[in-house]
Amino acid sequence: MSQPAPPFRATSGVPVQRRGVCLVISAPSGAGKSTIANALRASEPQLLHSVSVTTRQPRPGESDGIHYHFRSMEAFMRMAETGEMLEWATVFGRGYGTPRAPVEEALAQGRDMVFDIDWQGHRQIRAALPDDVVSIFVLPPSIAELERRLHGRASDEADEIARRMQAARDEISHWNEFDHVIINSELDQAITEARAVLVAARLQRHRQTGLSGLVASFGL
Ligand code: 5GP
Repeated sequence: MSQPAPPFRATSGVPVQRRGVCLVISAPSGAGKSTIANALRASEPQLLHSVSVTTRQPRPGESDGIHYHFRSMEAFMRMAETGEMLEWATVFGRGYGTPRAPVEEALAQGRDMVFDIDWQGHRQIRAALPDDVVSIFVLPPSIAELERRLHGRASDEADEIARRMQAARDEISHWNEFDHVIINSELDQAITEARAVLVAARLQRHRQTGLSGLVASFGL
């Protein structure tokens, strides 16, 4: 049995029980969402990362269970059919999905989780957890800059880059379904803005379930 996380301390230093935040970060490939998500996690070790299931091959440096759970299409579809995934979608012809159990556990413990998923995943997870999801869409400063960044990635082949540019346009077309939009032209600024979204989400009244107890102790 895992222990509940200590309650979040608001800026006041008063501990108040609250539900966790599901922070969804979506963006076209190359806009910098993984870098932003990694920076958030580096500054807050308590922040959980949702490890997705995928049917794609691992890239150099990726490990099973850390970057993704790498599975066959057969195993992936079995998980989808048995409801083990909170959401799933096909991206670039490959299956991607969010395992359900770690999310439910994190929320029950009042812990926050970051999701690096696409717009299809965002739609589904928002429908499944309407009170818990807060979302950010990361835009590149221009389409030319996005293409330049994709060319700078050593791990992807030329036809993969062309495919990703088309997929990027599709992904960007869903920008207006998200709560917040960050333009990543300056990385440090983008990280600061993402952190501000997370902090504000934690302070939302409906999330701070322990507030009524605190206020009752004031004799009100
Ligand atoms: P990549 O193969 O570059 O790691 O990811 C390709 C795309 O799949 C990215 O847009 C990423 O956000 C998305 N993705 C990764 N995991 C999931 C997931 O669990 N669900 C959904 N819907 N999309 C995902």
